[in-house]
Amino acid sequence: EFDHKASNQYGQALKKQKTEAQSEFAKTRSIKQQRESLPVYQVRSDLIDLLREHNVLVCVGETGSGKTTQLTQYLHEAGYSVNGQIGCTQPRRVAAVSVAKRVADEMGCELGTKVGYSIRFEDCTSESTIIKYMTDGVLLRETLFEPDLDRYCAVIMDEAHERSLNTDVLFGVLRSVVGRRHDFKLIITSATMDAEKFARFFGNVPVFNIPGRTFPVDTLYARTTAQDYVDAAVQQAIAIHVGQDSGDVLIFMTGQEDIEATCVLLADRIAQVGEEVPPVTILPIYSQLPSDLQAKIFESSDKRKIIVATNIAETSLTVDGIKYVIDTGYCKLKIYNPKMGMDSLQVTPISQANANQRRGRAGRTGPGACWRLYTESAYVSEMLTMTIPEIQRTNLANVVLLLKSMGIKDLLSFGFMDPPPQDTILNSLFQLWMLGALDNLGDITKLGNKMAQFPLDPPLSKMLIVGEEIGCSSEIMSIVSMLSVPSIFFRPKDRADESDAAREKFFVPESDHLTFLNVYQQWGHNGYSAKWCGDHFVHQKSLKKVREVRGQLEEIMQQQHLQINSIGTDWDQVRKAICAGYFHNASKLRGIGEYVNLRSRIPANLHPTSSLYGLGYTPDYVVYHEVMYTVKEYMQTVTAVDPYWLAELGPMFFSVKESSSDFHAKERQEQEERRKMEYEQKLRDDLERQAKQE
Ligand code: ADP
Ligand code: MG
Repeated sequence: EFDHKASNQYGQALKKQKTEAQSEFAKTRSIKQQRESLPVYQVRSDLIDLLREHNVLVCVGETGSGKTTQLTQYLHEAGYSVNGQIGCTQPRRVAAVSVAKRVADEMGCELGTKVGYSIRFEDCTSESTIIKYMTDGVLLRETLFEPDLDRYCAVIMDEAHERSLNTDVLFGVLRSVVGRRHDFKLIITSATMDAEKFARFFGNVPVFNIPGRTFPVDTLYARTTAQDYVDAAVQQAIAIHVGQDSGDVLIFMTGQEDIEATCVLLADRIAQVGEEVPPVTILPIYSQLPSDLQAKIFESSDKRKIIVATNIAETSLTVDGIKYVIDTGYCKLKIYNPKMGMDSLQVTPISQANANQRRGRAGRTGPGACWRLYTESAYVSEMLTMTIPEIQRTNLANVVLLLKSMGIKDLLSFGFMDPPPQDTILNSLFQLWMLGALDNLGDITKLGNKMAQFPLDPPLSKMLIVGEEIGCSSEIMSIVSMLSVPSIFFRPKDRADESDAAREKFFVPESDHLTFLNVYQQWGHNGYSAKWCGDHFVHQKSLKKVREVRGQLEEIMQQQHLQINSIGTDWDQVRKAICAGYFHNASKLRGIGEYVNLRSRIPANLHPTSSLYGLGYTPDYVVYHEVMYTVKEYMQTVTAVDPYWLAELGPMFFSVKESSSDFHAKERQEQEERRKMEYEQKLRDDLERQAKQE
């Protein structure tokens, strides 16, 4: 049944838009034509009509059909925004920013005014924002402070097929919002799969299909799976460039490093081929790429474009004009490693669903071709049909803390679409208990509640709160902010020695964390100057970002009535605060420059870029921020700690029993003795066990 009155109203609104648009410049007209050529445009009034009858909809359409950029605008044009903001969530930061920019252009406004975006530590919205793109993590945090999401009239949960951790949790949270608010619209969009499942989850809501237009794509498999996929991809790209008609090329790589290597190699090889081949435009795209460079993939070029992307280009971003796809068959996934007790990004074979999405990118504007750098039998028999949802493969400590602070006591009964493995939940509960965020009954503690206010991993927020107690929150805020940016130092190939020397001047012998603090403080002492950054081989952009992040942490501290205090030069206390958040990542010196993780007994090495390594300082005990795997396990960002801090702050790992009722000095002294003994004993036991194993 159609609601004629409603669609009429909508028609009026559209007509008004049209006359407005006609008086605009040519650029606007061409944007308007582009909008109207999208598949979703044909069905927009059906969609709006359906939404008047149902508060929840699942909307399925091929990538590029206009879901992300158009649905928000349709809702606005249909008048919903009178009652609140229209939110649209994205699993990826890059997508949130890039799409918001596009929609601001389409609506002819400055980004941050009518159309804005919000990602962690970066809020580009204002009072006047009516369409807000954000990461799913941002919306999830907002539900912590505004459980009914009152400021929104509608939310579009975009890219639901990605099944990101935060989206999966939002599913459960939003289902109860929809139950409570009858003036709230929810659209879940998906590129293809899983739509029925989403619809069932929300109580058999309608599935709306955007009719797609796709062209056939030839699939070509490798005869043998490539050993070096970077090299194989480069070869294939050159073969296409030399042998195929015009049309842009999209290469799917794993991550930043591989992408950069591919771009360099590709440029070299093309130069080698000689001047008879026409020039190409090589464009990388990955999440940490600065946004002005990201925007380049959308610029038109008279040369052939070769875009080298992570799986962000699979469904989140659509570049028109792609005719050839090269698929390495790999992506980087966050995977929880129970042995290490932490997540790490690992290069992993993609699933068949990924492979088919990737191939589909070549058939949007005309017939295309897709080269798979793996064999057909690998595709058929080795790849999973679908990727395992993130919630079933990553650490959940963050999410568990958030849910606990929302007052959800029994996590096993929370409305998960696909519940995480019970072991993972228990593991996360354990981690939070160990940090003091949960009590013995699994209820959230005062500390836990404070920790949940920060958009940080629990160990980082713990370190910040303990830092405040010790009197060094200012220093810890700087360190936490420094840890939030990808790279601080730069090392140009032609000035490697010079830049290394500059970096070493910042080294604080016992700690990489303190080295970071040192850099940040010196930058401040030098008036946050750009020249200073250049002189010291430090990325100015990164430091500026650090300063912004720090500002936001400061705001949260103030909102939470936490003090901003500085301990001056007593940096031992700063190390103790670091230890309070990271005692679970403790390592002990085993041989010359060789460490071993105290809990897992897995070797952990100082990274050559560590200040401890650089200065040849090898303390007996260290804690580290995370482990990086390359040729071996390297500890990233290391700080020397006093073993007694470990026993004091992480007694559960060192077999120390502490009775909380005893505050008498004498008893405490005795206990201290006992603790030392037990601690030593535990270490001996561990070492013995280790020796037996070897
Ligand atoms: P979907 O969400 O269904 O995959 P989108 O709304 O993302 O589709 O894309 C619709 C169209 O908008 C595509 O043709 C895409 O190329 C274009 N588009 C999206 N973002 C930009 C941008 N930043 N610059 C130029 N075009 C863009
Ligand atoms: Mg989209």
